[in-house]
This record gives sequence, structure tokens and C-alpha cells, in this order.
Amino acid sequence: MSTVPAELRSLSAAVPTSFGMWDGGGWAEAAGFETLPLRDPWADAVFTHVPAASTTDVDRMVKTATATFGSGSWSRMSPAQRGGILIAWADLIDQHADELAVLVSREMGKPFRDARTVEVATTAKLLRWYGQLADKLMDESPRGLTDALALVTREPVGVVAAITPWNFPLSLAMLKIAPALMAGNSLILKPALQTSVSSLRLAELSSLAGLPDGVFHVVTGRGAAVGTALSRHAGVACISFTGSTEVGLRLLGDSAASNGKTVSLELGGKSPNIIFADAPDLEVAIRTAVWAFTFNTGQMCTAGSRLYVEQSVYDQVVDGVRVGAERLRIGDPLDPTTDLGPLSSRSQCGTVLEYITSGLHDGATLHTGSDQPVDADRSTIAPAVFTGTNGSMQVAREEIFGPVVCIQPFQDEQEALRLANDTEFGLAASVWTRDVSRIHRMARGLDVGNVWINSYEEGVPATPFGGRKMSGNGSDKGTYAVDKYTHLKHTWIAL
Ligand code: NAD
Repeated sequence: MSTVPAELRSLSAAVPTSFGMWDGGGWAEAAGFETLPLRDPWADAVFTHVPAASTTDVDRMVKTATATFGSGSWSRMSPAQRGGILIAWADLIDQHADELAVLVSREMGKPFRDARTVEVATTAKLLRWYGQLADKLMDESPRGLTDALALVTREPVGVVAAITPWNFPLSLAMLKIAPALMAGNSLILKPALQTSVSSLRLAELSSLAGLPDGVFHVVTGRGAAVGTALSRHAGVACISFTGSTEVGLRLLGDSAASNGKTVSLELGGKSPNIIFADAPDLEVAIRTAVWAFTFNTGQMCTAGSRLYVEQSVYDQVVDGVRVGAERLRIGDPLDPTTDLGPLSSRSQCGTVLEYITSGLHDGATLHTGSDQPVDADRSTIAPAVFTGTNGSMQVAREEIFGPVVCIQPFQDEQEALRLANDTEFGLAASVWTRDVSRIHRMARGLDVGNVWINSYEEGVPATPFGGRKMSGNGSDKGTYAVDKYTHLKHTWIAL
């Protein structure tokens, strides 16, 4: 029985049935007045509409963003003042946390509990961190030049386009918005179509916080049309992308075919989670392994979807993961007791079920889960736990983006490392062991951008996040992210 608290029910009922685009400080229709319906994946029904932008709309926004950048209203505002506005915006996000979390739950099915305590809270935290950083960055000058002064300074690049996915719609967008705006750029956000409305509300709050008009825009519409209009636009200086490897690679081509804009890519993953028999606490490792492949219904770029376990504790871990997965409550995202909401869409659900079918077809053993939805009328999937997989099977090799894990035993450290690195991706990995030397050997040997030891998916705003190989390039978070939103300038002054 679903028990949705009354206050969440009324916030949900209050979601407008249509939204405009955020045109740098006010609402706008698309030039062609076309709108697109958005579906609530739990209700499996249309709940609102957003404008279907075209190249004309993108062009108008780029021109406004460029003119605003040139005006200096934001780009030449003092860093402390800019930081103050970002901090005020973070405060407003905290004040509207329930409302934003309900929007995220409605648009992509994330449990309200996680939307509130993880997604919205992280979004405000990131923004506040960059707001506080704004007046603390320094430019540089080499020492010891006797007859000259050399300055190494950083300047904002101009108009940044952020293209983001639907799985963590606010926090992943904020990973780009906060450092790019802090550095003085104008920014156009193109959220995934299905998660447009939380981004639109986020943008509206930016104006209340005092962000000058024309700096920040949210353009809604079909991914390929709007995304391509941005990635091929000569007025865009930088594309900051998070999404699939397939689209990310296409953006590199768009850049080459237009103005050679910089393209930073945070792409897919198939992350290994490696449990050694000497894990400090095997129960914690097992509990975390369940979380790592089921959180956000497995729709996580860093999902721990390949679980490698040392032979001597293999049976115990397989059984523990199966029991932990079966305990999770699948249900209405607005019900605070729900652990797993629906998949974000019918098509996403279909894709995940096909992967489970392919695993069965290839001869893997399914310990729990099914290749059928839990409820035929909704895109709900029970977590699937496979053993008997190998690196040549689709289910163990490709990114699934659903609650599916493949568990494989290993004999020793070398085999664990070989299995973990046998992938085209290089986003993240986790290792569970109490052996300090092994911790360092494994951390060095793993060909990924993020390694978590005796933990999973940890970090603070100051630590970088990024992938290598087919998982992308560059880094979000920390002062590292500022690199992609600034140009370096060398000025040599003969004295
Ligand atoms: P996607 O690539 O389909 O879409 C991402 C964004 O690109 C959306 O805004 C979409 O509308 C837009 N888009 C689609 N086609 C486009 C085109 N031709 N040109 C320009 N833009 C286009 O990805 P998704 O399904 O929204 O998200 C899931 C993917 O994102 C997974 O592969 C996941 O691993 C990845 N992801 C990566 C990270 C990370 O930090 N590495 C984080 C979250 C998600």
C-alpha cells in the first residue's frame, strides 16, 4: 500500500501542466509554439508540457548570452559579488528542496527520499562551494625574472553550453553551472527532455537570487535537434557534456565541423567493485555492493555493475547480495518507504529487460530478478543478480543503466585487476581489503578516474570526478573543473 504524505501529494498536484523555457531571466515559448508532453514514469501518464525549441531558439539564446557576456554585467562583476549571488541561489534551493525533489520524482521516478537528501542537497552544496570559492582563486606570476614581469591569468571563455542527462538532473547540471558561472561565463543548459522541469524551476530561482538577466538560459526540446544546434553553433565556446558515450563522441565531430569549441565529456561506465576476503567488514561490503548496483534503480554512470569476489568468500557474497536485493522495496517514488522507483521510461525499462534476457540466453545464472517487469503496467524492474557471466557476454560488458549486477569469482590480486580493467570504460572502481600494500597496488593498477577503497561513490566538492578511455575526458568538481571554463592568458611585460 502506497502511503504518500499529504504535503507531497499537494506539491505534486501543484506542478503546472505546462512550462516555458528559461530565457535568461523570463519565460519564453518556442519560436514555432510547438510543445512536447512529459510523462511521469510511475503514473505512466503525461503530467506536463515543455516547449520544443528549434535552431532559431538556440540561436536567439546564444546571441543574448554572448551580448550579456560582452556587457560585463556578470563577466566583469567582482568575484566576491558573483560568489554572493551563487550562495544566495544555493540558499533558495535549500528553501525549495521539497518542491524540487517532487519535480525530480515526477519527471524521472527517483524516490523522493533520495531526491531530497541526495540530489537536491548535493546541488545546493556544490553551488555554495563554488560561491565560496569565487574570490579565493589566484592568478600566477613566475618568480625571478629580472627585467620582465610575466602574468599568467585566467579569463572566462564566453558562452558555455551544458548538455546533461536525466539520471541526476539537478546535481549533474550544477557540476557544470556552478564553476562555469563562478568563472564569469554565460551558460545555456540543455537538460534531457524528460527532466526539463526541475531545471526550469532551478533557473527561476537563480533570478530570485539576483543573477543578472541574460546570463543563464535553459533550452528544452528534443535532444538531437537542440543538442546539435548548440554543439554546431559558432557562438558557443565550450560544450560541457554528461551523457552516453555514443552522443559524446558525436559532439567531438560537431565541434570539428563548426568552430573547434572545446568539448568535455563525462560518459558511460561499467564499473568494477572488487571484494577481497580480507575486507574490513564483509557485511558492509555486501550491503554497499547491493547499493552500488541498485541506487537510483541502477541508473547511475558509476553503478557497480561488475562485482568481482575472492573465491573463498564468493558463495557468502552471492547469497548476501541476493538477499539484500530481494529486501528492497519497489514502489511509488513519493512514498518515503520506497527504495527503488520505476525505470525512468518505458523504453529504458525495455532496454534493461532485453539485457536480462540476453544474460539468460547466453547461459548465465539468474539468482534473483526476472526478464519481466514487476508490474506489467509500470516500468518497474526487480534487481537482477547474475553469476556464471564472463567478459564476452553483453550483460557483463555493456553499460545497462538498470539494476543488474554480474558477479564473478577471482583467485588472486592479479586476476582481479585483469578482470576489472578488461573494459572499454574507465570511470570508477571500488576495492574492499584491509591490506595497505594491496590498497596502493590496486589503486595504481586500476585504469579509471575514481577509486574508492572500502567505500563506494564517495567524494566532496573539492575532489575531481571524471573518466578515461570511453568514459570521457576532463574533470568535473573542485578547482579542476574551472580549467575547462577559463582560457589561460600569458602577458609578458618588459620592464
Ligand atoms: P544521452 O547521451 O542520451 O543524453 C544526454 C544528453 O544529450 C541529453 O540532454 C540529450 O537530450 C542530449 N542529446 C541526445 N542526442 C544528442 C545529440 N545528437 N547531440 C547533442 N545532444 C544530444 O544520455 P542519457 O540517456 O540522458 O543518460 C544516460 C547516459 O549518461 C549513460 O550512458 C550514463 O553513463 C551517462 N552518464 C554519465 C555520467 C558521468 O559523469 N560520467 C553521469 C551520469 C550519466
